[in-house]
Amino acid sequence: MEIRRIGVIGAGQMGNGIAHVCALNGFDVIVHDISLERAEAGIATIMGNMNRQVAKGKIQESERDAALDRISPSMDYARLAETDMVIESATENEEVKRAIFGELCPHLNAETILCTNTSSISITRLAAITDRPEKFMGMHFMNPVPVMELVELIRGIATDDATFKSIETLALGLGKQVATAEDFPAFIVNRILLPMINESVYTLYEGVGSVESIDKAMRLGANHKMGPLQLADFIGLDTCLSIMQVLYDGMGDTKYRPCPLLVKYVEAGWLGRKTQRGFYDYRGEFPVPTR
Ligand code: NAD
Repeated sequence: MEIRRIGVIGAGQMGNGIAHVCALNGFDVIVHDISLERAEAGIATIMGNMNRQVAKGKIQESERDAALDRISPSMDYARLAETDMVIESATENEEVKRAIFGELCPHLNAETILCTNTSSISITRLAAITDRPEKFMGMHFMNPVPVMELVELIRGIATDDATFKSIETLALGLGKQVATAEDFPAFIVNRILLPMINESVYTLYEGVGSVESIDKAMRLGANHKMGPLQLADFIGLDTCLSIMQVLYDGMGDTKYRPCPLLVKYVEAGWLGRKTQRGFYDYRGEFPVPTR
């Protein structure tokens, strides 16, 4: 099935990145969030990010203007009836996602493909609460979406071949590369990445190193672009905790136990860059470690 009109639910850092890339590649995009203000704030972020791409010579002004014209905000599920494909990219919380699919499905055209950008939650379980498990799958983008090349594709137990093929074609058409993962907690990237991040928080918690020394050690010692705590702040500590919880619950193995210090940061509302404070404080000119 040909996809031309795309709905994105959740206008946060991932949702606005997905909308950005889809619009630049010629798709009409509806950005949906719990309020018009949030959807519009997501579009304002896209505009800022596209302006940066223009300044760097990566896209033309005319491409930016055409892409922005293709994006519209929404807080009304009925608007998504016009779409060929919807990708859910709301908060990493199963209850939130369940509520969204429950409200959304009655508005969708029977042919519309439904995807989730979840980092960890079972695709099969989410599919089962929709009216179209065979047209449902995981399409997991990486952060920041306009920059990162990979999209992880995850079929639920019922996903049909036509749906998989359409979404693979879409991902390739967006200029991405795909890796296919089976539907197990956190799939491939986060199954490997998040335990490393959680271990870096334990390393901090146990006093083995400071925020700065842990990040420096992994940047220079393991040749990682970002230190693990810097990366955790970039992902969002609420999202990191939620993924660890899904791994812990789903695998039933204590090696995935979320670090109590990670829990404490989330309880404080220190969620990383998005709230200006996490393992670093971003409110000044330079990030300052908070421990
Ligand atoms: P975020 O906190 O930046 O944004 C979440 C957005 O969802 C917010 O705008 C919020 O208003 C919206 N939202 C919450 N409830 C909603 C509802 N009922 N209806 C519509 N919108 C709702 O989070 P994010 O980092 O963009 O993560 C979104 C999804 O992408 C999660 O499933 C996450 O696991 C996944 N993901 C995140 C990353 C990452 O690095 N942060 C990478 C890949 C995938």
